[in-house]
Amino acid sequence: MKTVTRSTCCYCGVGCGVLVEAEDGRITGIAGDPDHPANFGRLCTKGRSLPLTVQSMTGRVLHPEIRTARGAKREAADWTSALDLVAQRFAQVIEQHGPDAVAFYISGQLLTEDYYVFNKLAKGLVKTNNIDTNSRLCMSSAVTGYKKAFGADGPPTCYEDLELAQTVLFAGSNMAYAHPVLFRRLEEAKAANPDVRWIVVDPRRTDMAAMADLHLAIQPGTDVALFNGMLHHLIWEGLLDRAYIDAHTVGFDALKALVREYPPRVAADICGIEEHALMQAAEWFGASPAALSLYCMGLNQSSHGTDKNLALINLHLAARQLGKPGAGPFSLTGQPNAMGGREVGGMATMLAAHRDIGNAEHRAELEALWGVSGLSDRPGLPAVEMFEAVRNGKIKAVWIACTNPVHSMPDIARVREALARAEFVVVQEAFAQTDTVPYADVLLPAASWGEKSGTVTNSERRISRVQAAVDAPGEAKPDWWIVNEVARRIEARLSSMSTLFPFDSPQAVFDEHRALTVGRDLDIGGLSYATLEAQGPQQWPFAAGAAHGQARRYADGTFATGDGRARFHATPYLPVAESVDARYPFRLVTGRLRDQWHGMSRTGRVGALFAHAPEPALTMHRTDAARRGLKDGDLVTVASRRGALVLPLQVSDDVASGTVFAPMHWNGQFLNSGGINETTVPAVDPHSAQPELKHAAVRVQAADLP
Ligand code: SF4
Repeated sequence: MKTVTRSTCCYCGVGCGVLVEAEDGRITGIAGDPDHPANFGRLCTKGRSLPLTVQSMTGRVLHPEIRTARGAKREAADWTSALDLVAQRFAQVIEQHGPDAVAFYISGQLLTEDYYVFNKLAKGLVKTNNIDTNSRLCMSSAVTGYKKAFGADGPPTCYEDLELAQTVLFAGSNMAYAHPVLFRRLEEAKAANPDVRWIVVDPRRTDMAAMADLHLAIQPGTDVALFNGMLHHLIWEGLLDRAYIDAHTVGFDALKALVREYPPRVAADICGIEEHALMQAAEWFGASPAALSLYCMGLNQSSHGTDKNLALINLHLAARQLGKPGAGPFSLTGQPNAMGGREVGGMATMLAAHRDIGNAEHRAELEALWGVSGLSDRPGLPAVEMFEAVRNGKIKAVWIACTNPVHSMPDIARVREALARAEFVVVQEAFAQTDTVPYADVLLPAASWGEKSGTVTNSERRISRVQAAVDAPGEAKPDWWIVNEVARRIEARLSSMSTLFPFDSPQAVFDEHRALTVGRDLDIGGLSYATLEAQGPQQWPFAAGAAHGQARRYADGTFATGDGRARFHATPYLPVAESVDARYPFRLVTGRLRDQWHGMSRTGRVGALFAHAPEPALTMHRTDAARRGLKDGDLVTVASRRGALVLPLQVSDDVASGTVFAPMHWNGQFLNSGGINETTVPAVDPHSAQPELKHAAVRVQAADLP
């Protein structure tokens, strides 16, 4: 029998609605959901190919597997044995070494319900905050930026602003590739209104930069100097909203004193751009009836990512470009549920429902809601530090779910070393070929997209249902179920009670999650599965009694800080963590391609998605290539102080001389190395702990091949 199931695409943070066709237990087709307010029926190439990622069982993890000794082959096992073993080994480590000797590394690909149960296991039962996620690599600087400026996490904007903005500032965001359906909406808005102006800040001349009214090809990592220079010019030109600054903000005078040091000529020199271009950008931004900035990894994946976010938000506050239609600082989430993970507090630095670990009142609230005591007040270890603690033996057991750190973390040689040294590694995965799976002592088969149900929250705070269209193959199970089963077993070993994990469905998990949000800034007390199914996807907050969610926040100038005022932050420009020098003279920038996703465990299964870019390449400016006697297609070695890999060379004018670019996607499944993160730097932002994946000093030379 043919069925059509309403669900959500599992790739990027746009969160497109989909209609999934299935017949005889197989997903046979997909279409964009015309009623979903993110995409109104559109899909990109990745979304359209989703059925192909789950149609073949080749390469799927179909049964639990256990190995009894390091170096031994894993053998198929039944679920009871695998769950018992994970619970027993985790409980044993906790009893012998304390709760902080275990860690959980999860994923923005997980559904909110999966995330919730993991977070409750770590923080509510084990009493460790050592739970972090690959979203740390993606948007944690945006979280710290929003919290420091506005007092709460989450964008003040919505997708409707894409069509209402008059000036759009893209900062470190290649939306045409990373958020294609939103980019299509922007293209249509620009085509319909000749007054709309695009400013693209990107070291590379991307397709989007080529379409822009103004392309600011800044040196990698100089964004703070750019934004400070733009603010200097706004002040000079009188393009501020002084009444708004006085009534609704704190800290402008200190910021004004700082940006005196960034006249446009000085700032433009730091950035390597023309002074008049910087001034033009400032004038278009400040004088616009509605200026929207859209930003992503180019700002976040930096050792000064929080400062970059704050310097951009300073511009919005100073010119009152927020809290009104078409305006605001809009951080785009890379992953489908990075936002949901933030909501449930599934990170080492936060608690459920936007509560803070360091806040005794917040901990007490959560203890009361969960019926526990003694929540840890020690922040957990964020991703880079977590794997370092595994490497040095402080963390002895680690559970990795739905992510591939042996490809996505910076300086992956250290992550390999860490997992090889760990006493016990659990990997929960749908796909058997990832670079992390070989390290698993226990491999747990997870259901994939199309096979499990729950919710996700997209970039505009909109919660959508994800629905199973078919059964999971083999013995694969939904992630929430796996964690719930292990959690019950650990609870039984660690305490006499068994009350924390009563969940028998994703809906039961969601209902507990929403109860925790009541009275908080993200209150979804009024949003049930039934509401989502009857009224469609909704934005938070959606408190009890509300008829719909809230499109924009802070429209009345009242922020989530104690005094209701937003905070300016004086952010001096600081250089990247690793400067180029005579031995490593190139600035390496990494990024995404249009048709691949993350480490390609899904998109790598679809032949058609290799048509756009059949293989990875290192892009280099033609003068740099000529100087080294290199030509297009040559195999080159890209090497940093940490590692190296061989890639074909792509000669281009789209990167500046001195900068090279490599895509992030290809991994050990396709290359004789783990990918470009063999070379990247494990330096992190001091506020967000997000690593600097966007810049490393490298050298490039002809590959020395046998
Ligand atoms: Fe999926 Fe993102 Fe493409 Fe939409 S834009 S179809 S969410 S990958």
